[in-house]
Amino acid sequence: MRLAAPKRFTIESIMPIRNWLTAALLLAPLYAQNPVRLRVDATDAPRRVFHVQMTMPAKPGPLTLLYPEWIPGEHGPTGPIANLVGLQIKSGGQTIPWRRDSVNLYAFHIEVPAGAASLDVAFDFIAPPDATGFSSSGSTTSELAVLSWNQLILYPQGAAADSVQYQANLRVPPSWRYGTALPIERESGNEIEFKPASLTTLIDSPLSTGRHYRTVGIGTENGIPHYVHLAGDSDESVAVSDELVAQYKNLVTETGALFGARHYRDYHFLVTLSDHVAHFGLEHHESSDNRVKERTLIEASGRKVEATLLAHEFTHSWNGKYRRPGGLIANGADGGYDTPMKGDLLWVYEGLTNYLGEVLAGRSGLWTPEDYRDQLAATAAELDTRSGRAWRPLEDTAVFAQVLYDTTDDFREYRRSTDYYEEGSLIWLEVDTLIRQLSKGAKSLDDFCRAFHGAPGGAPAMKPYEFEDVVKGLSAIQAYDWSGFFNQRLHSTAPRAPLGGIERGGWKLAYTPERSEWWKANEEYRKQVDLSYSIGIKVNEEDGTIIDIAYEGPARKAGVTPSTKLIAVNNRGFTPVVLREAVKATATGQQPIELLIKNGEFYEVHRLDYHGGERYPHLVRDQSVPDLLSQVTAPLARR
Ligand SMILES: [Zn+2]
Repeated sequence: MRLAAPKRFTIESIMPIRNWLTAALLLAPLYAQNPVRLRVDATDAPRRVFHVQMTMPAKPGPLTLLYPEWIPGEHGPTGPIANLVGLQIKSGGQTIPWRRDSVNLYAFHIEVPAGAASLDVAFDFIAPPDATGFSSSGSTTSELAVLSWNQLILYPQGAAADSVQYQANLRVPPSWRYGTALPIERESGNEIEFKPASLTTLIDSPLSTGRHYRTVGIGTENGIPHYVHLAGDSDESVAVSDELVAQYKNLVTETGALFGARHYRDYHFLVTLSDHVAHFGLEHHESSDNRVKERTLIEASGRKVEATLLAHEFTHSWNGKYRRPGGLIANGADGGYDTPMKGDLLWVYEGLTNYLGEVLAGRSGLWTPEDYRDQLAATAAELDTRSGRAWRPLEDTAVFAQVLYDTTDDFREYRRSTDYYEEGSLIWLEVDTLIRQLSKGAKSLDDFCRAFHGAPGGAPAMKPYEFEDVVKGLSAIQAYDWSGFFNQRLHSTAPRAPLGGIERGGWKLAYTPERSEWWKANEEYRKQVDLSYSIGIKVNEEDGTIIDIAYEGPARKAGVTPSTKLIAVNNRGFTPVVLREAVKATATGQQPIELLIKNGEFYEVHRLDYHGGERYPHLVRDQSVPDLLSQVTAPLARR
């Protein structure tokens, strides 16, 4: 997963009381032979309502139906139970009363009457209007919708997700097209009948649909086809260039060259382009759900800033889905959606994926080598100055992930956030450059990936791992104290970030008054002015909101606090240009910068004693060390 906007709410989760083994043995045959019939009517999706009907086999006696709570890839209890409404359970036309469990709020208890062989369950799902968060947030507009099946089903407690079969039927709004990895039996008009699939596969196979829809083939390798399905709020938003399609094709061949095997039958990138859905990416075995702003793929800044999104989510098919930390698997299998996840190895699951996503963006041409370095400089600067690293070690950001995903931007610099993504990139670059250096260029992290994530390949499978497996896998490629290496970085509260990979790669972090092209694109795309490394504030360019401050920086020392509004700079109304020019002038002038801030209902004036001019991060070449960074992002595949 990758998040764009971190503001989100979750529901407190409490581990339910279960007796899996006994119940699973009793229930498994019932659902394996008789699929649950699931009918979803999405014709009301433009009005944010999905209608669900299920017919499920049942036996007389007590039964508990669960709504999925812990969602694979979201690493937290994010199932949107508050939006399940209108629940009705019947058998033979008779209404069966239900009672919610008072501890596990995702569980509904019923008594199946004598003589009943099946249940009819109906409910509606309200798609939220908010555009922030993950799959439980905004997923529909009047032009498009993304369906996450975990939001549209109940499942019987005690039946393993791999053995319960669902046969889904879906109606989309008339004339809307669609894309999904879920195998299709037949379609007619706006109705699609899917082949029976396990609960695991169903939840792993979201669907996008829309009025402005374009499916593009991006290459078949060894008989395995790949598609990009673009759903946008306008025809223009899905009119991507041939150049971008060629880069996506490169991404397919580069993953083949990197991993040497694929763990899917076919692969579908669902790309949703709208300013009114949540912006994030969520991985699946055979597809990914990628949601970005409407004009992302047709404007240069969006393409540059979001260049790694598809590469990141695609990488997860290998690192995250096929190979997964034991703590992120429930009951030894996908599913078990009522079991809390443990995030301590997210620096591998997300951290290595973050690194490989960036490397693959470089190898595919989605980024130039300079884009890769500019973005790496931004990451390095952010982590190297993050004051929160003095109290919270990296591992804690992973263990605490399910809470940190929900935190807002203010004081992020002091609190730390889901840093195992970005710091994962730095650490895995260190691993890669160390292997290249120690093996004198004979080996690299690519060899580890091929051995750890590769063969045999085929249909989706899952092979769990623990910390020791990662250490063992790396040691098989290059002898080194990998356990000591990771433990030091995971538990450190040293003030500086691990920049060894950049330095061993032949580059150094430096600050200059010029913004890199990537930096400009990022400011434009995110509509912000980022002065983190000069006066120590990041400002929303549209409304002047101070997004965050450097906790030890000049602005904070002068009394500026996040979530207030910048009104004027040196007595002139705030605009990005006015602010940037004022900071630039500090390099030569002696006067402090004066900021007029609106804090709630009150106005404050703060004078910043800062004289350093503009400062933005870059990587500069260290000629005394070979340029390994350029080797890392050079294409592997023959073109
Ligand atoms: Zn991810």
